[in-house]
Amino acid sequence: MMIKQLVFIIALILTIAAFSVTTRRFVRFFKLTKPAFRVRQIGQRTILMLKVAIGQTKIFRRPVMGFLHALVFWGFCVILIGSIEMIIDGISGTEKVLRFLGIFYDIIMASGDVFALIIAVAILVFLARRLFLNVKRFSGPEMKHISHLDANIALTMILLLMISLLGMNTFYILSSMEAGNEIYGYYPVSIILSAFLNTTAHTTHILYETSWWAHILLIFIFANYLPYSKHFHVFMSVPNVFLSRLEPLGKLDTMENITREVKIMMDPDQAFAAPAEGEEESEPERFGVLDIEDINWKSYLDSLACTECGRCTAVCPANITGKKLSPRKIVMDVRARMKEKGPGLIKEGAAFSDGKSLIRDLVSEEELWACTLCNACAQECPININHPSIIVNMRRYLVMEESAAPGELNSIFSNIENNGAPWQFSMEDRMLWAEDIMMNDIPG
Ligand code: SF4
Ligand code: SF4
Repeated sequence: MMIKQLVFIIALILTIAAFSVTTRRFVRFFKLTKPAFRVRQIGQRTILMLKVAIGQTKIFRRPVMGFLHALVFWGFCVILIGSIEMIIDGISGTEKVLRFLGIFYDIIMASGDVFALIIAVAILVFLARRLFLNVKRFSGPEMKHISHLDANIALTMILLLMISLLGMNTFYILSSMEAGNEIYGYYPVSIILSAFLNTTAHTTHILYETSWWAHILLIFIFANYLPYSKHFHVFMSVPNVFLSRLEPLGKLDTMENITREVKIMMDPDQAFAAPAEGEEESEPERFGVLDIEDINWKSYLDSLACTECGRCTAVCPANITGKKLSPRKIVMDVRARMKEKGPGLIKEGAAFSDGKSLIRDLVSEEELWACTLCNACAQECPININHPSIIVNMRRYLVMEESAAPGELNSIFSNIENNGAPWQFSMEDRMLWAEDIMMNDIPG
């Protein structure tokens, strides 16, 4: 086994080990969450995933930046094939192992080479916007210095990945030509770059090896950095779209046990009926969401997939009219709270408390009641995050566990309870308004 192979295998093992530790941490966080819905309608989900995640359709609502972002995503998908080849080469000590694909290999390598240049240009545009333009969508109380730093680090890493890829292709062409070897694959951008370089065979070889190692090590570092970054959406956006809530946006999910109670009130025979499939028979430990252990797995997945792009907040009527609510902040708060409390819950069990909660310590009642449930945020989110379902569940906690709804709502609730309607009139008086009409209608 060559030294290069050995070093590569050690680097790969370390990468997989670090990634496994991170994955295990997230699996344990997910185990703390509550059930959401059963994943069915696989065909419908697959079509949605192809359209929204792979086709990037929602991102095109902002055509220029959307198109650049879509190119970066599609480019990543193509370049991934070349990265897989590098891993096989690194383990087996081969070079360009997928060259047996013939014409397809040429197409894959050519697309990767062109996309590397496109992505590098797009990333420069993204960085320039973040650093030199005051884009309102990228600001807000939830966008702390660390959020901007994280975005800039991740973008810089992508830029370096593309530069090292182009460098690797360019020096591969030069070293193959200098050694009189056949060039496998086609590299339309790098072949132009190689024409501008004049290096000795020895230097070319060193530069090829340097860019090869720089590229693969950057991939390993990037893969382990992503789960701690807003760019985790690179991994999470496709599964998040696949697992989207499929109901129409305005439809509220009912609470099964409450629905059952209401049905029994309206028809006492229902008390003896068997629960329908999927209905819970037992009382929940808590109504709604107070803290992170009450969140369901889908809301937590949403929080991990959030790109912090701010498209949701930019269309939120509450935010636009100066209210404290920012749907992006709600999603980011869920992620932050799991990071804060999750390790304690894993270590000490459900009884663990750090004296804080998601409601009030991170999300205020003012934010929650500012939401009009218009669903513009969910409609706009490019990866189908559903903010209203998180907000409604937190409101449910306030109403059902603490009776802490705003005063106007509390009087409506007691009217519904006492009179069966939101108004303050009793059921017996409901037809009083029609009394004269009915009397006059009686013949004779
Ligand atoms: S919730 Fe969606 S729209 Fe809002 S910041 Fe996150 S990814 Fe962007
Ligand atoms: S549903 Fe609520 S959070 Fe979302 S856009 Fe409408 S008001 Fe804002």
